[in-house]
Amino acid sequence: MMKDKDIDLVVIGSVALDSVKTPFGKSDYSLGGAASYACVAASMFSRPGMVGIVGSDFPKEHIDFFKTKGIDLEGLVNADGKTFHWGGYYEYDMNQAHTTNTELNVFADFKPHLTKNYKKTKFLFLANILPSLQLNALKQMDGSPFVAMDTMNLWIENNKEEVLENMKHIDLVLINDAEARQLCETPNLILAAKSILKLGPKAVIIKKGEHGAMLFTDGVYFSAPAYPLETVRDPTGAGDSFAGGIMGYLAKTKDTSIENIKRAIIYGSAIASFNAEGFGLQNLKKITIDDIEKRYKEFENLVDF
Ligand code: AMP
Repeated sequence: MMKDKDIDLVVIGSVALDSVKTPFGKSDYSLGGAASYACVAASMFSRPGMVGIVGSDFPKEHIDFFKTKGIDLEGLVNADGKTFHWGGYYEYDMNQAHTTNTELNVFADFKPHLTKNYKKTKFLFLANILPSLQLNALKQMDGSPFVAMDTMNLWIENNKEEVLENMKHIDLVLINDAEARQLCETPNLILAAKSILKLGPKAVIIKKGEHGAMLFTDGVYFSAPAYPLETVRDPTGAGDSFAGGIMGYLAKTKDTSIENIKRAIIYGSAIASFNAEGFGLQNLKKITIDDIEKRYKEFENLVDF
């Protein structure tokens, strides 16, 4: 029996205040960060524990919001200083985020510390954060949890060896199409996926934004469509909510078979599609599991022929 305090998934990543501009609106110092999106998405299915750091400027209402989602905050450090801040914008090609500024602030000196409760968890998601911090968290885990990781162009440019090293120690790599091409130095996504698999992970998911996602494992290829959205207001956090949905579902079902990962991908896609329809975390704040189940069924119809 799971106790109230028990978590079933650990997520390490950025917790941020984001300033984002898209052709459809803008936000200033709003709740963001890879771990925030991933934990909120995962909380639709399971009880995630968040590992990260915020500064003294981080509004209490965001902490209260995490708590209403059942997110455990034992691993979230509250430090003196300013919270990580990301500024970016999108043009009409919403698959491409343009970064205007990245201020690490309290993240600059952060060393993750996993408590006993977190170390014994069976699922770990290394969301976007410095690759060395991802590895540090991974090494603290007891036993052999199921581990997924995400990354971004900044780390592939500046810390490529560390990104490749991390991939050797995990089960599932999530990467977007442009990053896969950049990392593997090939225009071909099939070849990119094959070369990532050679590093050791059991599976690779290549995200293609509005064109869905592809799953590769040894001998298996699965293509998931994207939900045909007519309104995309802000794609920020699409990748994180997709990954959070996947990991939340896997942690809930405790089944990491390829067939179940395929189902998890559809749940992740459903959550990410809701996320992109609203600004920031606006939509994830209000959707329910019934909304997600309904969209999951619509996905089934999309590929039924
Ligand atoms: P995505 O799912 O790729 O749209 O992720 C968006 C989130 O990534 C934003 O909420 C940002 O706060 C966060 N982010 C942007 N740059 C970084 C970075 N260098 N390290 C960690 N998180 C970042």
